[in-house]
Amino acid sequence: MINRAIFLTLAASFAITISASAQTTLPSPAVTSTSETSKAFDPAEATKAWLATVPADKRAKSDAYFEGGYWLILWNALVGAGIAIFLLTSGISARMRDFTERLTQSKTFQVGLYATGFVLLVAILSFPLTLYQEFYREHQYGFATQTFRPWFVEQLIGLVLTLIASTIALTILYSVFRHAPRIWWLWGTLVAVVLSFIGNFIAPIYVEPLFNTYNPLTDAKIRDPLKQCTLPEIRAVMAHEMGHYVLNHGAKLTIYFGVVAFFGFGIARKTFDWALRRWGQRWDVRGIADPAGFPLLMLIFVTFAFLMTPVLNSITRITEREADQFGINTSREPDGMAKVALKLGAYRKLDPTPLEEFIFFDHPSGRARIRMAMDWKAAYLPAGNLDAP
Ligand SMILES: [Zn+2]
Repeated sequence: MINRAIFLTLAASFAITISASAQTTLPSPAVTSTSETSKAFDPAEATKAWLATVPADKRAKSDAYFEGGYWLILWNALVGAGIAIFLLTSGISARMRDFTERLTQSKTFQVGLYATGFVLLVAILSFPLTLYQEFYREHQYGFATQTFRPWFVEQLIGLVLTLIASTIALTILYSVFRHAPRIWWLWGTLVAVVLSFIGNFIAPIYVEPLFNTYNPLTDAKIRDPLKQCTLPEIRAVMAHEMGHYVLNHGAKLTIYFGVVAFFGFGIARKTFDWALRRWGQRWDVRGIADPAGFPLLMLIFVTFAFLMTPVLNSITRITEREADQFGINTSREPDGMAKVALKLGAYRKLDPTPLEEFIFFDHPSGRARIRMAMDWKAAYLPAGNLDAP
């Protein structure tokens, strides 16, 4: 999803362009243009023709890249769970807490210090996977050109921001745990909903502009992808983004994720108590209000998020599909939509199996999007008001 702030600035500049623009010709694969003149337009054939415009080597590359991503979901979950188990069973977590208790009497500072140590330890222990995933793999597939040093500096900046954010978050979290040791999971759900709300509504409008100056079409990051797009493609993308806005996706996603968070926290509470009864003494973790138990919470949530991968992906994918439907009806640019779908295919598998799409895709696959566009085209072709010459 292109973020809403970009949408807001672009919407203004494109509203004029869209309404004022003359009909433009657009290059299409041979089959679609010939079938436009013939009477029978077969959406399945047209979809195949669009997919066939992607060279086999490019297809193989994007397939391999995306399929590698399936395994990375597993590796990330395993590494996260492994680190959590290691910090608990080695007693490192309990010793970190003991250390903070010797330094200060304040519970708040104890948690803050623990959070700092925890984030640093996790960053160090997971660095090999980060290095492979974010640096070597991206270079291997030609998606990154940055050399190691600037990449590493960016990672360090990211780490500092994570440190600040985690310290604040854990301090608040454990203050809740101390004050509501029984219903902390309900408060946790509430905080998750509020954070999701901030992410969906407030941050794009009020927070992000503090870091970026959104000047329409002067920001290189916005301008360059648009430069590579034709007008029908831009209309298709803009109409999709407007769909998110018009269909209240921010509010809907907040509710959907709120429901998932509710179950997640409920399960976390049960599992946390059960694990402490079994291993609490051995790990030297005293209860939910003890920061030494944080790796256990991390273990529970990493496992939960891993198991919920298909659910979370399907929630966003179905929402994206709604935006696609709104987009095609509004832009009336089936070929523009097909081309955008192909461009996005550079990073995603174009033609996955239904099961793959269900589990791993947070957007409709390229094939699904093109098929929707071609079905729309077949249905509206008799109306004869497409922008084809
Ligand atoms: Zn979207």
